[in-house]
Amino acid sequence: MELWQQMVRDSVHTVDQLVEKFNIDRKVAEGLDEFFQARINPYYLSLIRYPGDPIWLQCVPDIKELEDIDGYEDPLQEDAMSPVPNITHRYPDRALFLTTSQCGMYCRFCTRKRKVGNSDKISMRQLESAFKYLEQHTEIRDVIMSGGDPLMLTDTMLEKILQRLRTIPHIEIIRLGTKMPCVLPHRITPKLCEMLKKYHPIYINTHFNHPWEITPESTKACEMLANAGSPVQNQAVLMKGVNDDTDTLKELFTKLLKIRVKPYYLYMADETRGANHFRTSIDKGLEIMFALRGNISGLAIPHFVIDAPGGGGKIPILPQYVLHKDEHSIVLRNYKNQIYAYHETKNGNGNGNGHLNNNEIEKIEVEISGKKNGSSRKPKNYKDVTTVSVPEVESNKN
Ligand code: SF4
Repeated sequence: MELWQQMVRDSVHTVDQLVEKFNIDRKVAEGLDEFFQARINPYYLSLIRYPGDPIWLQCVPDIKELEDIDGYEDPLQEDAMSPVPNITHRYPDRALFLTTSQCGMYCRFCTRKRKVGNSDKISMRQLESAFKYLEQHTEIRDVIMSGGDPLMLTDTMLEKILQRLRTIPHIEIIRLGTKMPCVLPHRITPKLCEMLKKYHPIYINTHFNHPWEITPESTKACEMLANAGSPVQNQAVLMKGVNDDTDTLKELFTKLLKIRVKPYYLYMADETRGANHFRTSIDKGLEIMFALRGNISGLAIPHFVIDAPGGGGKIPILPQYVLHKDEHSIVLRNYKNQIYAYHETKNGNGNGNGHLNNNEIEKIEVEISGKKNGSSRKPKNYKDVTTVSVPEVESNKN
């Protein structure tokens, strides 16, 4: 048995352990175990600094999970978009391929609780129909292996799947959606990296949510994957009490770049049953994104998205940078709340450099704040923008 497998085996997972370690009432612990079992491996457990900290919140079961009865079991409608077992086909040229129900840690906010945990939730016997589907659908260029966590498979099993996928000519890219570099970095072994090299291009989508998860161990794991030729991206979830403040995410995203992981997505938390207590307001997310842009490298800034309930897919949302647009120009604000105009190539007749003069800025600021003399004066050529309302967003702190 490899070290990482032993660590999974040594995880906190029983009701007795929950009662003893986290002082959870036994009846509640039994309810939580029934709802979504716990798995906290010794490595991730060691990252907890105090009860209720951002690491604790992500892994220790909480009575609030049982109080949430409004959330959806399958908020992204993955099952409805599953033509055969283990495949979700939502986007034209990509398919999600669920290969295991196991994870190195069970995250309390998980969107896929219905699939994750017990080994009977995803049947390996049904992989054949998934392979057949992927073979028949020549429009699929990109397969995202997920689960559960595909790196919970043994190297041998994982290689069998990769080998089979590589016999399908139209599959150009394989992605592994894995939280292992974050929650159990010991899984990233030289042997695994050597094996992955044979099946490139393999991209790794990993999942760090808090800077405390960036440790010497997780740094090494991400560097090994990068050295093995796999680009590594991060998908974080915005969560109350975990990372819903600018400084935390600034630190997380800049540190990820240092370990050669590109911040890729920041998700609003899904409307998943039992995870409502993690959800923040959309305005909070927009405020954070506005405070990040311009103040840290664009490389460190992920797309902020809502994975639309009902299976609408990922939809990017941005702070309000566009103040006005017509056929001549677009009026924008930058990260310092300064106003700029960019003119279309035809019929453009601006002041030449795009930077508005003081008079125009003042008039537009009237529009933003709506305060000045209660005026609704508009700059020259200003036309009403029907779709935007400019939120009061805290300016950058630098
Ligand atoms: S690793 Fe992913 S699939 Fe597994 S419990 Fe965490 S969020 Fe869910």
